[in-house]
Amino acid sequence: MIEQLFNRLEEIYPELVNIRRDLHMYPELSHEEVETPKKVADFLTELGLEVKTEVGGRGVLGFLRGGKPGKTIALRADFDALPIQDEKEVDYKSKIPGVMHACGHDLHTAALLGVAKILSEVKEQVPGTIVFLHQFAEETSPGGAEYMIKDGCLDGVDVIYGAHVMSQQAYGTFSVVEGYASSAQDDFYITINGRGGHGSSPHETIDALVTGSQVVLNLQQIVSRKVNPLKAAVVTIGSFNSGSTTNVIPDSASIKGTVRTFDEEVRKMIQVWMEKIVKSTCEAADASYELKYVNDCPSIWNDPDETKRLENIAKMIVGEENVIQGDLMMGSEDFAYYQKEIPGVYFIVGGRNEELNAIYPHHHPKFDVDERSIKEIVKVFIGTVFADLENE
Ligand code: MN
Repeated sequence: MIEQLFNRLEEIYPELVNIRRDLHMYPELSHEEVETPKKVADFLTELGLEVKTEVGGRGVLGFLRGGKPGKTIALRADFDALPIQDEKEVDYKSKIPGVMHACGHDLHTAALLGVAKILSEVKEQVPGTIVFLHQFAEETSPGGAEYMIKDGCLDGVDVIYGAHVMSQQAYGTFSVVEGYASSAQDDFYITINGRGGHGSSPHETIDALVTGSQVVLNLQQIVSRKVNPLKAAVVTIGSFNSGSTTNVIPDSASIKGTVRTFDEEVRKMIQVWMEKIVKSTCEAADASYELKYVNDCPSIWNDPDETKRLENIAKMIVGEENVIQGDLMMGSEDFAYYQKEIPGVYFIVGGRNEELNAIYPHHHPKFDVDERSIKEIVKVFIGTVFADLENE
């Protein structure tokens, strides 16, 4: 059965490349997607699937009710692009100035449409229900996943799979990390209020600049002294502003930064320590403060059982030698929100190919990947749908 579907994939592959290239030439920014969701919805409708548009805003869902009993599986692809000028020299270069598919979401979308096409042709043999989840606005925060979840995109769904092509990983390879796989992101904004005054009379002031400097240094102790060295964490202060001239002691200082963690416990602990350190440092100086701590994207948590299942499927599809050890990702990815609701797995397919000059990192103006990675994504997605049946 699977073999027959993979043969069909070879036949429709040129069509998938065309879809990818069309999306690549006409990219749309996060939360501004109009034509992309329309193209997706039209394609799914043409296949005879039940389609829901404007899910959570600009998301699209396609439902395939299989002829056999089984779980409800959601397969997710994101479709937004980035505010980057395309600098590649290829004939499918972006035609929209300053906007580019520099993360591969065009491939994800083409692949998921391919899965929909292939499965809709063998509907009677498909177990359970397949939800084709086309997500808008992955690159921004808040991203499309949160909006789509609030709008019910996971209703009745048992498990979700998501794919990402990676230009840092060789074409033909597959990787998945069990458990925490990407970092969670939190941002913080601190304002320190003292009492300003003349630079010659510090004793009459509460120096917000000196207090702010102490806060900056004291916060360095969170990772170095409080976090278990076996757990990864980053506390970065990206902005410190106070004062304007030589002889005035400023009355306020502002500090901004970001926190990246994997483990949820570590994530919570850092927030607690930040509050303690800012509070005590300011108290010691008689300054007051405001701390705004924003919990942004959580970590990807790849369900261990589902991850093992997927890894076995991938071994059959790409060959055992091509299933490689994946790295943790320090970036964040809003697929994590789906995994807060239901078990899910987010896997990586390699797209790097020196011969095609597909060597640049994601979000680079010359980013590109080997388009054949579309086929790998299609195959693994199809594998997730049929693997249980094949084993019976
Ligand atoms: Mn991406």
